[in-house]
Amino acid sequence: QKFVYDFTEGNKDLKDLLGGKGANLAEMTNLGLPVPPGFTITTEACKVYLESGDAPTALRDEVSAHLKALEERMGKQLGQADDPLLVSVRSGAKFSMPGMMDTVLNIGLSDASVAGLATQSGDERFAWDSYRRLIQMFGKTVLGVDGELFEEALEAAKHAKKVTVDTDLAAADLKKLVKQFKKIVESEAGREFPQDAREQMDLAINAVFDSWNTDRAKLYRRQERIPGDLGTAVNVCSMVFGNLGPDSGTGVAFTRDPASGHQGVYGDYLQNAQGEDVVAGIRNTVPLADLESIDKKSYDQLMQIMETLENHYKDLCDIEFTIERGQLWMLQTRVGKRTAGAAFRIATQLVDQGLIDEAEALQRVNGAQLAQLMFPRFDIEAKTELLGRGIAASPGAAVGKAVFDSYTAIKWSRSGEKVILIRRETNPDDLEGMIAAEGILTSRGGKTSHAAVVARGMGKTCVCGAEDLEVDTKRRRMTVGGIVIEEGDLVSIDGSTGKVYRGEVPVVPSPVVEYFEGRMHAGADDADELVAAVHRIMAYADRVRRLRVRANADNAEDALRARRFGAQGIGLCRTEHMFLGERREMVEKLILADTDEERETALAALLPLQKADFIELFESMDGLPVTVRLLDPPLHEFLPDITELSVRVALAESRKDANENDLRLLQAVHKLHEQNPMLGLRGVRLGLVIPGLFAMQVRAIAEAAAHRKNAKGDPRAEIMIPLVGTVQELEIVREEADRVIEEVQAATGTDLKLTIGTMIELPRAALTAGQIAEAAQFFSFGTNDLTQTVWGFSRDDVEASFFTAYLEKGIFGVSPFETIDKDGVGSLVRSAVEAGRATRPDLKLGVCGEHGGDPESVHFFHEVGLDYVSCSPFRIPVARLEAGRAAA
Ligand code: ADP
Ligand code: MG
Ligand code: MG
Repeated sequence: QKFVYDFTEGNKDLKDLLGGKGANLAEMTNLGLPVPPGFTITTEACKVYLESGDAPTALRDEVSAHLKALEERMGKQLGQADDPLLVSVRSGAKFSMPGMMDTVLNIGLSDASVAGLATQSGDERFAWDSYRRLIQMFGKTVLGVDGELFEEALEAAKHAKKVTVDTDLAAADLKKLVKQFKKIVESEAGREFPQDAREQMDLAINAVFDSWNTDRAKLYRRQERIPGDLGTAVNVCSMVFGNLGPDSGTGVAFTRDPASGHQGVYGDYLQNAQGEDVVAGIRNTVPLADLESIDKKSYDQLMQIMETLENHYKDLCDIEFTIERGQLWMLQTRVGKRTAGAAFRIATQLVDQGLIDEAEALQRVNGAQLAQLMFPRFDIEAKTELLGRGIAASPGAAVGKAVFDSYTAIKWSRSGEKVILIRRETNPDDLEGMIAAEGILTSRGGKTSHAAVVARGMGKTCVCGAEDLEVDTKRRRMTVGGIVIEEGDLVSIDGSTGKVYRGEVPVVPSPVVEYFEGRMHAGADDADELVAAVHRIMAYADRVRRLRVRANADNAEDALRARRFGAQGIGLCRTEHMFLGERREMVEKLILADTDEERETALAALLPLQKADFIELFESMDGLPVTVRLLDPPLHEFLPDITELSVRVALAESRKDANENDLRLLQAVHKLHEQNPMLGLRGVRLGLVIPGLFAMQVRAIAEAAAHRKNAKGDPRAEIMIPLVGTVQELEIVREEADRVIEEVQAATGTDLKLTIGTMIELPRAALTAGQIAEAAQFFSFGTNDLTQTVWGFSRDDVEASFFTAYLEKGIFGVSPFETIDKDGVGSLVRSAVEAGRATRPDLKLGVCGEHGGDPESVHFFHEVGLDYVSCSPFRIPVARLEAGRAAA
């Protein structure tokens, strides 16, 4: 087994073995770009080290051999007193991870070799500057000394000399600083700063290995589902010096603008500095374009190299480079991060340049980015007053009056006010306030905090962990940098950037939504350019996808919008919404009915209303399938609240004027009250115990379809029975439904071609899918309820109570209500698909849970062979895009 690869031996596809940084350094080396020579220690070596607590013996020898080769090539030895070879030791896992170790530069310097470096470079100041940097970085990252101590000493030295930037410190000052730094190391780490160069290197390498297992790195991996045993690679790279005077420097660059995607010169440059200075913001950088006048030769070469890299990686790259006395060196490259908008633009630009094809373009964007582009956003041109910044926990742009407790949030929102609920952190008691608010802002907690999890579940804008804000709930105010925001003051929060503003920032609609709505077309300005890119990518996706995309919609308005967004039908029309509002009273009558006659009267009153709803719906979706689900929720949802009604009746009784209807209602409410309504009398169970209920609904659907047929329309209704657990339930309902349909067909002289199917949302239904398919013409997986019943938890309860703890402990990286749990719930879906198709090869299969609009879940549904996904109208473009990406 080979543990060490020279930069000339690797390539960009070896990220597993060499880490991202190492693989790309090798790739650049082999492209003939100027990379300082070096070698990479593999992730395999790290694994052995982590398992056995010691570096493999073979590793030491291999490192020695590679070091020797490097020394021969460079003509000097590591730490050699009169002319030292210096190296950097750089971490580099496959995925970059917070909590992993930083890089140590200038390894090889010591009390002896610092003089040699001074003589060789002819620059004493440079030599001592490099030495103090080594002790500082080594002390902090390898020996675990608090970095602040070094910073304070550096500040004090500048202060004593009355200068503000480190370049104004002379060799003598730096020499003194080195002495101080060494003392800090001794007292804090309990050991001297190692003078032996090889010891420095080995300690640094082991420290990189060890950093794989810091608590932060472990937690991050568990949440992101990164396997814990990948290990990190370590890069040893000969040093080049950007701090050798004004003809030296260091910088970062992008091959194109990561915000717009436009080609051009984007980056920052800092003269006379080493790499970490740019990031640390110690001195002000200049725009990369200025390098042209500072050092034209290096600038031209850099432009050339960037073009080479783009053409080679066929993507936007970011790079780190250093210029040493007029000689350009490449120190890192990788495919660069970009904004959501730029991702779409860059993908189409690369297609136009002939660098990638359409299938590849689809892989360069994703549904999360598209979703981000669809949120309304704050007007960037508006004048704003930034109060602070937190974590962008749940996207959107929300404006409202500041309130500091849930009670006020509910009270104000009831009277029509828009409010932003501001808390230090939220807990389950805040749930109602969160629902009432436009957005949620907290000063504590991260992406997995209660506020963040619940807000994402509700699709509500949320900024959390804005630590600059001091929230004082008792006095109903928050302060930030001397500004006081009182209850009732307007604030604006941006859940996509984490920014918090004072006052009302104007909101502009997303141009991408305007485009989907058909209100905007591709043109010339900036937003239009984005829209044109989205338009093209969506066209690619639609061309290749196999999954069809339907909408969950209950009325014509939503259906029409869904159609504009590209829906190919309705996958879930919930009929319970048709039972609310002023019709609630009719439902009450139905529930209270004592006799068949009373019941039939109540149903007969509902029938024409339902029918009218369906006519509208079928018309709006003419020519496309519409799956109508028969009544699903427990009946108590249509009745008054048990406590409220009890109080009312009790009061009335004490006044001796209780009314008859209230008394009957209370009786019914008591009778229907359930401990676990989610698991009680609902779905098909209702249809089986309330005579005529489902028949009335089926009749309304059939008559509406017949009406549309006779009006020369093309209705394609599908009747869906919810919460079936066994085929017998379905058989009974079907018999009745078939009879009703036949009656309607005969009476109207139509052939309606209605199909009848079921939801698969109980484990038993999934487990007996083969039997159920005998009676069902289609399955629609209700993955919300299926997730609840497979896991045995009720969503409303768990998301607000213990999900935060589960996410923090890494038990799941994302809520199973957000992304389908492939191993558990998903495996039931998979086997039900197989069993269902075995019984009935032409069984139509879809999904209508919220997972239908979740990117990762869509890929899963493609893979298990469903025919369509159905999601909320707003998620349809995301589902179309992901279905395309899954198939491409
Ligand atoms: P990070 O992952 O934090 O970017 P790097 O390993 O890239 O860590 O190094 C941090 C900084 O040090 C970068 O600016 C990099 O360019 C610079 N650097 C790393 N190795 C060398 C080297 N051999 N010579 C000069 N600068 C280096
Ligand atoms: Mg780093
Ligand atoms: Mg770097």
